[in-house]
Amino acid sequence: MRFPFQSSQFRERRGFRTDCRTANGPPRIDVTMADTIVLRDVTKTYKMGTQEVNALRGVSFAIGRGEHVAIMGPSGSGKSTLMNLIGCLDRPTTGTYSLDGTDVGTLDDNALAAIRLKKLGFVFQGFNLLARTNAIKNVALPLFYAGVPQGRRDREAERVLAEVGLADRGSHKPSELSGGQQQRVAIARALVNDPAVLLADEPTGNLDSTTSAEIMALFRQLNSDGRTIIMVTHDPETARHARRVIRLRDGVVVSDGPAESVAEAGNAPLASPAAADG
Ligand code: ADP
Ligand code: MG
Repeated sequence: MRFPFQSSQFRERRGFRTDCRTANGPPRIDVTMADTIVLRDVTKTYKMGTQEVNALRGVSFAIGRGEHVAIMGPSGSGKSTLMNLIGCLDRPTTGTYSLDGTDVGTLDDNALAAIRLKKLGFVFQGFNLLARTNAIKNVALPLFYAGVPQGRRDREAERVLAEVGLADRGSHKPSELSGGQQQRVAIARALVNDPAVLLADEPTGNLDSTTSAEIMALFRQLNSDGRTIIMVTHDPETARHARRVIRLRDGVVVSDGPAESVAEAGNAPLASPAAADG
């Protein structure tokens, strides 16, 4: 057993999955064996010359396998910092982050890269595709880093492109695709290593509302296939596609609850407990 856990009955009885307090103190979270992502009192401080920016000031929560979580909050509240930590692109300044029982803070850069390749897929607001490279080669890139031979890379890339509805666009370059299609290519690239967790930072931020809804439908399908999805969004319409919404403000969690309450709750902390999907 690599982390302490309590039964889900206990968790439901207590009715919280997140420490929403802003005051310091021991993090108050219940962790079950189904939890993939466990943050305990995580802080992140950026040093800018002599100045320090406290981007995260003590964040604690657990996310279970198969959950679909939206992270919301005003600009500068620490959403991208949190996603970079969860995505193993960075390490906490203090506190611990455990991914599938591994304490990420103890890993060196090579081990972090390996864990990213194996367990995590990333989708960004700006798609981040290679401009002069066709869809198949863009999608196949993570397989190249994983050392998969070329023939198999292309076959796998074509298979995943078909999964996201782009079977007939493999030879197109990004400039020959619509925004929604480019984001599908980016999603296929994130999925090609078959990661358990898909992380998306403002995935619909550059898309119109119709295309955003299509991308969210794809996310819901991926989630119902068993993938854990964590997405950052400003947009309540987008957040409502998730099942759980975590709100950040000034580097702390101010609420954590079912997505249905997003519209009514506005900026007020959610009273009800998080939906436990795991
Ligand atoms: P969000 O994604 O919610 O807009 P960020 O996580 O990007 O917020 O930023 C949180 C705070 O940390 C902001 O004050 C931002 O200016 C600061 N910050 C983010 N990244 C860096 C960095 N690499 N160096 C210094 N400060 C940073
Ligand atoms: Mg951001």
